[in-house]
Amino acid sequence: MSKLGCICGNTIVDQSNNLDNKAYFVRDQDYEKSENYAEDIESFINAVKNDSRDKWTEKYFGSEVYKNLSNSIVIQDIISRYKLKYESTIYQCKNCGSIKVQKGTTNIFASFKIEDNQNMDILKGITENDIEN
Ligand SMILES: [Zn+2]
Repeated sequence: MSKLGCICGNTIVDQSNNLDNKAYFVRDQDYEKSENYAEDIESFINAVKNDSRDKWTEKYFGSEVYKNLSNSIVIQDIISRYKLKYESTIYQCKNCGSIKVQKGTTNIFASFKIEDNQNMDILKGITENDIEN
């Protein structure tokens, strides 16, 4: 998604990282599946131990590029495959505060009107000050 029209006439632009009006979410019914990467990581570790690392990554990812990449990148990409499969996006319009929720894996977004102007930055990142110890 790079641009999304809002009912207020504003266009929500998504062409960079670190946006303060965008978030990702996983539906509760998909959450366990999205976290189900431990067995794949264990399988990768066993392949490394058994000197079959390159064969494993080629079969798993269908690509030879992982031969030259670090183990940490391989593990990160195993996790990403699970996350991306179930992850959806939410945006908030900075003009009117409406919330846009991605429908399933489509490019269609459902729009929800905000009830007050108190939460115009609801998707802004959490800072250290926000986290209670
Ligand atoms: Zn709007």
